[in-house]
Amino acid sequence: SGVSALKFEEAFEEEATESSALRNLPEYACTYCGIHNPSCVVRCNAPNCKKWFCNARGHTSASHIVNHLVRAKHKEVNLHRDSLLGETLLECYNCGSRNVFLLGFIPARNESVVVLLCREPCLSVNGLKDMNWDLNQWQPLIDDRCFLPWLVKVPTEQEQLRVRQISSQQINKIEELWKTNPKATLEDLEKPGVDDEPQPVALRYEDAYQYQNIFGPLVKLEADYDKMMKESQSKDGLTVRWDVGLNKKRVAYFMFPKDDSELRLVPGDELRLRHPGGSGHASWQCLGQVVKFSANEEVVLEMRSNANVPVDVSSGYSVEFVWKSTSFDRMQAAMKTFAVDDTSVSGYIYHRLLGHDVEEQSIRVNLPRRISAPGLPELNHSQLAAVRSMLQKPLSLIQGPPGTGKTVTSAAIVYQLAKQGQGQVVVTAPSNVAVDQLAEKIATTGLKVVRLCAKSREAVSSSIDHLTLHYQVRHLETPDRQELHKLQQLKDEQGELSSQ
Ligand SMILES: [Zn+2]
Ligand SMILES: [Zn+2]
Ligand SMILES: [Zn+2]
Repeated sequence: SGVSALKFEEAFEEEATESSALRNLPEYACTYCGIHNPSCVVRCNAPNCKKWFCNARGHTSASHIVNHLVRAKHKEVNLHRDSLLGETLLECYNCGSRNVFLLGFIPARNESVVVLLCREPCLSVNGLKDMNWDLNQWQPLIDDRCFLPWLVKVPTEQEQLRVRQISSQQINKIEELWKTNPKATLEDLEKPGVDDEPQPVALRYEDAYQYQNIFGPLVKLEADYDKMMKESQSKDGLTVRWDVGLNKKRVAYFMFPKDDSELRLVPGDELRLRHPGGSGHASWQCLGQVVKFSANEEVVLEMRSNANVPVDVSSGYSVEFVWKSTSFDRMQAAMKTFAVDDTSVSGYIYHRLLGHDVEEQSIRVNLPRRISAPGLPELNHSQLAAVRSMLQKPLSLIQGPPGTGKTVTSAAIVYQLAKQGQGQVVVTAPSNVAVDQLAEKIATTGLKVVRLCAKSREAVSSSIDHLTLHYQVRHLETPDRQELHKLQQLKDEQGELSSQ
């Protein structure tokens, strides 16, 4: 016991020195490992970051700075004031681009000068050929996932051994944490709750409760991430021009600045448009819905209310994304039903979903000799096999890379199912665009298609408007269509009809 006590003391002492040393590190120490040799570190220049990183690989395949830039999607760096080139923001000599992943250098004839130039577009610009530079000498600043050592020195082996040994797993975690809390430190990773790994998914589950227990938290994590990503996408300083739509609603046109965010606006998205007011105007904000994009890629936002819209003000607007939990709520609700309601799916499907061994079932069908559908191209051999197999089984999974005709095959399956005469066929897909494409294909077979969409999407135009339920109701030819028409008009004017 004497030996182990001694060991403990030693370990304790080491830990104490390490953390006290880290506390006293200068501001420019590598945020990952703590190296603070001025010629080995650079500062990330992203607005909410400004953290320092070194040019050592440590235990990862890229240097710490490159690792950070890639994971955080940052791309500008500042050199340290004591570095070879002094305190410099790296940018293209010709166009000012600061994307270090595109920047390179050309040694000028005068040995002591280097010129930074970006690969796109400047390296290929003809005008530069007149300068006294040999463009063939251009080399990228980042080579093999490290900055060139003459620009940012690589710390020596000894320097690297003396500092914090950070693993790529820890780097992943701290980078994730920085997305919500840019001030987080590596010590925060140790706090309870930060590092709770969700249970891994399995190929087989005991029952639907276990299935829900594993997938529920994963769906929650995905929803939290989606919400965080979308709500962080507010844009300021927008210029808006106003118009009035056919339905007399106010419509805002503006460019939504595209950056490297993962957010892509699609028709149907909800945005909140604000103006802070000023010069005689009260502040204003209103929800609106993206109905389409104009020919020059402006967002066309239909406002929910025409009240107090500052139509004579064009600049100074800001916009933010309104996150909706609907699809995630539905996933959770479906899993709950699956877990608690024995009758939610058939016994066969229940066991198949949980990965249990279950005897293959086949459905007796009268397959037509020639499987085809009017209006669709001829199916090839494997598409035909997919349709046949699908018609004879309660549950099928068909997969194919892009362009292999999954939509056409699906449309043929729906056509054949409808011809079996066992009732209506429900078709779903993971996105509105996918449902539209499928609905269009199925309609070409001559089947009667009704496209259901969320009430909030009724204003959104698409190529299959004529298939939507709201359109079909509007154009219904019935004896009492006069009254229906009147109610419709009333609804358009008032926005809603009361149930009274
Ligand atoms: Zn480092
Ligand atoms: Zn950064
Ligand atoms: Zn350039």
